[in-house]
Amino acid sequence: MAKYLIVGGVAAGMSAAARLRRLDETAEIIVFERGEYVSYANCGLPYYIGDEIKERERLIVQTPEAFKELMGVEVRTGNEVLALRPEAKSIKVKDLLTGREYDEAYDKLLLAPGGSPVKPTLPGSDHPAIHTLWTIPDTDKIRAMVDEGKVKTALVVGAGFIGLEMAENLHARGIKVTVVEMANQAMNVVDYEIAAMVHREVAIHGVDLQLEDGVSEFTPGANGGVIARLTSGKSVEADLVLLSIGVKPNTAFIADSGIELGKRGHILVDDSLRTNQQDIFAAGDAIEVMHPLTQKKTAIPLAGPANKQGRIAADNMHGAMPHTYKGTMGTAIAKVFDLTIGMTGASEKLCLAHEIPFDSVIIHPNDFAGYYPGAMKMCLKLLFSPDTRRVLGAQGTGYSGVDKRIDVIATAIKGNMTVDDLTEIEHAYAPPYSSAKDPVNMAGFAAQNILDGLVKTVKWTDIDSADPSEVFLLDVRTPAECATGMMPGAVNVPLANLRQRLDEIPRDKKIILYCRVGLLSYPASRVLTANGFENAFNLSGGYETWHVATTRHKASETATVQQTEQKVIPMMQTTSEAPTKIVEVNACGLQCPGPVMRLKKEMDVLLPGEALSITASDPGFYSDAPAWARSTGNLVREISVQKGIVKAVIEKAGQLPQAAPAAAGNDKTIIVFSGNLDKVIAAFIIANGALSMGRKVTLFFTFWGLNALRKPGKVKGLRKNIIEKAFGWMMPHGSRKLPLSNMSMGGMGGKMIRGIMQHHNVPALEDMMAMAIEGGANLVACQMSMDLMGIRKEELIDGVQIGGVAAYLEASEHSDNNLFI
Ligand code: FAD
Repeated sequence: MAKYLIVGGVAAGMSAAARLRRLDETAEIIVFERGEYVSYANCGLPYYIGDEIKERERLIVQTPEAFKELMGVEVRTGNEVLALRPEAKSIKVKDLLTGREYDEAYDKLLLAPGGSPVKPTLPGSDHPAIHTLWTIPDTDKIRAMVDEGKVKTALVVGAGFIGLEMAENLHARGIKVTVVEMANQAMNVVDYEIAAMVHREVAIHGVDLQLEDGVSEFTPGANGGVIARLTSGKSVEADLVLLSIGVKPNTAFIADSGIELGKRGHILVDDSLRTNQQDIFAAGDAIEVMHPLTQKKTAIPLAGPANKQGRIAADNMHGAMPHTYKGTMGTAIAKVFDLTIGMTGASEKLCLAHEIPFDSVIIHPNDFAGYYPGAMKMCLKLLFSPDTRRVLGAQGTGYSGVDKRIDVIATAIKGNMTVDDLTEIEHAYAPPYSSAKDPVNMAGFAAQNILDGLVKTVKWTDIDSADPSEVFLLDVRTPAECATGMMPGAVNVPLANLRQRLDEIPRDKKIILYCRVGLLSYPASRVLTANGFENAFNLSGGYETWHVATTRHKASETATVQQTEQKVIPMMQTTSEAPTKIVEVNACGLQCPGPVMRLKKEMDVLLPGEALSITASDPGFYSDAPAWARSTGNLVREISVQKGIVKAVIEKAGQLPQAAPAAAGNDKTIIVFSGNLDKVIAAFIIANGALSMGRKVTLFFTFWGLNALRKPGKVKGLRKNIIEKAFGWMMPHGSRKLPLSNMSMGGMGGKMIRGIMQHHNVPALEDMMAMAIEGGANLVACQMSMDLMGIRKEELIDGVQIGGVAAYLEASEHSDNNLFI
């Protein structure tokens, strides 16, 4: 009778134990597990803390007793394997309850000890409020703190899978969460533009993600909490800290066994999962695997591979039906709030690091037929070999359907398929499930077009690095679409007019064409190519990818959406009677002021008592829509956000009891359009005067007026493109650099005025601005002007809000004095 010993009783270990039993009914099988639990669902732990999984028992898939009863496998929990003696074919074990140490002999041994979270040796990191999450006891501790109501604020260190899942689940328990990540992006395994969508998603939900920053030390905070000092000099105070900065293999106990380990301590195995020691196998997070695309050994700690390796190791330990393990390519998926992010195979980063020749394409198809209700856009990035046309990898984000496409492409990679094969994959199609051309087919078509020379592409990063004197940015959308935002310096020639307006396109420059997602710009590039333009390039992923990748997503700017999640619907006006008719309009894809314009247009044709149900994917619409409704005397029936889509139901007033029209008050609104020192001073003199009379004041800064709000120095790390940078250089850096409207005399005039003001004891402009902010003035920076001028929130002084035109208009409804300066 064969005797199999297994070290580690979770994914790989228990999978192997079950398979061994199925292969050999008579064998003696013993699993050693140092912890209290076996076969638990560690992937479900964050969701139990978030109360998404409500019953703790559901995390425990199997108990030692049940396993013994069903499978005839002995599971010794609380038994730690201390050492191996390969020469004696035995292991040394310690019963952690009694302290007894004993030896156990084996015929075949499987090492499946997994890994443990890395704990940094930072000063103060032993504070009791600092946790890691890997086991059931870890989970119990964190959940107890949350259940007791002790945790109001949490800091998650590390924005990988577990870190972000925990951020979501702590947020779900009403906790204010900050995430600190050393890299310039979350989820380091994907490429930046894909991670940028995750940055946007966490910001929308009010989680403060601080990139390119790390913790340098912890000190005790108030009420049992911790203060984390960051390398940037900032500090974050939190009632609970979760460290999720990586995993290391649990292999210290085999260090002297003669088993070969890799550089980072992982067990080295051959393709039968055999170690270099006779009859000792290994599987799971503790081993190095072969990456099939790089053909190099690496560590990829994932549950799927661990389980499958356990099964294969068992086959090979038994010996009757041996199998080889062909490697792990890192197919993974995660839910970050409403967003799914998935990946398989090689990323661009991996290709660059391993010098694998690659090309890529980004598409934004619908998850199913656009005409069937509920279709959502996803983003798919496909990597492929320009030489062999083989599919190398894919990454995807979206609110539905990403998992299916990633799995199909993972299968294609496993089968060594080419992009041509992707175009022919025959998928199951009906409108609620897919389109006649599935996103996977579409990715194949796009890649095929590149490889067949039908189109040349550039990436969003090429826009950043392009020399504006050598590049012509051509936006081929309609003017209405362009009103939602264009790249700085781009020229609009809609596709429909392109053939007639070819003489407006320079022939001596590189032409980069773009539209929203690349669908119009591809045929437009064909038009140019057919007309002899040799230098026409299509922007992969279009404006959408460029925009999300070049925007710095900040929770503070999307706080209203976080409130919606918490079902706080401010200032909602209701009536008891239902609308006589509800017209549904989809304004998704339009950005400020697009949805507001669409809202107005549709409301204009409704009769009193009828309502408009409008959806928009612009987060600012959450505050703009109610503001617009209030200022026009209409009724807000509903405002909510789900899966990134803001929905407003607004009823035309008239037939139903009218909401009292906003009474004109004595507030003051000032539009600061000018960037001249004297005019900005005038604006603040008036503002402070009004404040001193007890009036509410709103200053709306648009176009050149925004320069008054800029911080004096250059703000680093904003990832601006060359045109935005050029704009930034040319415009004054803040109030101190503003010129006079007359007699500027190369800046001398401004200095003279400041001197005269000082002489007459008139506060400097900067002091006036500070006084106004302190006095409660509402300084609003126009979002659309900021976008056009390439100005970012980080460049503005503290105390400024970012707002749309509707926010300003609402303030002006309560004002008896509206100045344009
Ligand atoms: P483990 O599951 O870690 O099991 C190893 C066991 O060995 C441990 O119980 C340990 O106590 C025991 N052990 C170690 N040393 C000894 C010793 N000397 N003596 C006795 N016993 C010992 N992966 C995914 O693919 N998808 C996910 O969504 C996902 N989510 C996750 C969420 C969380 C919170 C965590 C913690 C992990 C997640 N993972 C996920 C990773 C996945 O759980 C692991 O890849 C998988 O569990 C690895 O299995 P394993 O058997 O190699 O190791």
